[in-house]
Amino acid sequence: MLLMKDIVREGHPALREVAAEVSFPLTEEEKKLGQEMLQFLKNSQDDELAEKYGLRGGVGLAAPQLAVTKRIIAIHVPDENEKYYSYVLYNPKIRSHSVQQACLAGGEGCLSVDREVPGYVVRSERITVEAFDETGKPFKLRLRDYPAIVVQHEIDHLNGIMFYDHINKENPAYLPPDVDVLG
Ligand code: ZN
Repeated sequence: MLLMKDIVREGHPALREVAAEVSFPLTEEEKKLGQEMLQFLKNSQDDELAEKYGLRGGVGLAAPQLAVTKRIIAIHVPDENEKYYSYVLYNPKIRSHSVQQACLAGGEGCLSVDREVPGYVVRSERITVEAFDETGKPFKLRLRDYPAIVVQHEIDHLNGIMFYDHINKENPAYLPPDVDVLG
């Protein structure tokens, strides 16, 4: 099982690379990695397991965070109705996004960043993502608000982008007009 020691932290070159697409059929290793990434997120949200293994709670994880520069992400994230979006996405692509933007009131965090970075990270409020599952079957997710923000954060990791790259340098508390502040 994956543990915090398996997650690389900022400064590691894998976090700044553009990750490569996977090809299908996946290798056993690629399938196992996706499954383990999702399991890590579930474990990290289980109070007992998180305490036992010293896991920081996470809702999303990208393969480059494990120093594997391939286009694989996992999410295990609730919406405002506690409906869980629990998926491994291979080669995810944002097909469309809303003009409306949103950000989290408390800013964002990252399992690869061991410090608080204050500031608003403005993203699309709604996205449509296409991806492949581990069998190579394509699927589509329509997401809004928190789950949409988490997927955008994870896809950024596949392009070497960290969440704080989006924060206004002069004024981290700057918010453009008409951005929905969530949570
Ligand atoms: Zn992250």
